[in-house]
Amino acid sequence: MKQNIRNISFNELNEFISGNGHSAFRAKQIWEWIWEKNITEFQKMTNIPANLREMLEEKFFFAISKAEIELRSKDRTIKTLHRLYDNKTIETVLIPSKERVTTCLSTQTGCNLACRFCATGMLKGARNLDSGEMFDHFFYAKNKSLLEYKKNLSNIVFMGMGEPLLNYENLLKTISAITNPEGLNFSPQRITVSTVGIVEGIKRLADDNVSFHLAISLHAANDILRNSLMPVNKKHGISGLKEAIIYFHKATNQRITYEYVLLKNVNDSLKHASELAEFCKITPCKVNIIEYNSSSTNKFQASDVETMQKFSSFLEGRNMLVNIRKSRGNDIDAACGQLANKC
Ligand code: SAH
Repeated sequence: MKQNIRNISFNELNEFISGNGHSAFRAKQIWEWIWEKNITEFQKMTNIPANLREMLEEKFFFAISKAEIELRSKDRTIKTLHRLYDNKTIETVLIPSKERVTTCLSTQTGCNLACRFCATGMLKGARNLDSGEMFDHFFYAKNKSLLEYKKNLSNIVFMGMGEPLLNYENLLKTISAITNPEGLNFSPQRITVSTVGIVEGIKRLADDNVSFHLAISLHAANDILRNSLMPVNKKHGISGLKEAIIYFHKATNQRITYEYVLLKNVNDSLKHASELAEFCKITPCKVNIIEYNSSSTNKFQASDVETMQKFSSFLEGRNMLVNIRKSRGNDIDAACGQLANKC
């Protein structure tokens, strides 16, 4: 059976090349075609001898994604549905603003964590995307940004479909290809990975001393409420999450971002704000208050503007950094929590 070439490590490629009597520098050349130039046909690797190209063709294949459908929002956000080699689909989003163009990338074909307010959480049986697939989606966004907005892609958020830290190795491999100083050299400071708070994953990021940003989808700072909104909380609870965040901060010295979706009469009172403020004392941080985006799969409602303002002012009154994040692309179901392959 042929192997997906974008699923092997540099060392494995190197072994294959030298095991077949070719010089080691060929591995580096092939690696560049794959992970810098995004070439997905062996025949296009023009500096590789024909017999080696044929050998590669016999042993490996490229599992590639195809952009199939594109929806455009009136705010110029673009949502793309990519069809994967096994016929599954995922969505990515490209969001332009005055200074930036941000792409929101997916890491799984759905999500098995079932957060109650999230449409992606209703797509069960998700599989991990491999690094090549994530790389395809990144590359597509990078080209699209220039074409559509005449601007370089400036930021990446892993906030699309799926839970990034449940696809840890592929995620880090993708980021490493994107940020490689000898290759694309995208700054890790412009990459954010968002997690529901997978405790083991956060500790692993600390041990790997990553330099990209970490965002935690908190949404409630007491166990009873968080368990009911996000079943994943039942495993380690708020105390386990806190411990992992402190561990991460000690290792990386980074400021953490918390995401907090305001749900009307559920987590939006001043008591909840006060619990959040207490939680946030553990490390330097910033809070993004997110407007709830409705979907047909759940019955929550967005808090009204006045409640949002009060919640935010309460936190600011405690000297916290707070942003209210306006939804982008919600007319095409491209906003947070709306990605559900319904293009
Ligand atoms: N699984 C990761 C990555 C997805 S990020 C995570 O949860 O962090 C998507 C962000 O949108 C998360 O903060 C998620 O909690 C939030 N979200 C989910 N459903 C939403 C909705 N209906 N309205 C607004 N934000 C939502």
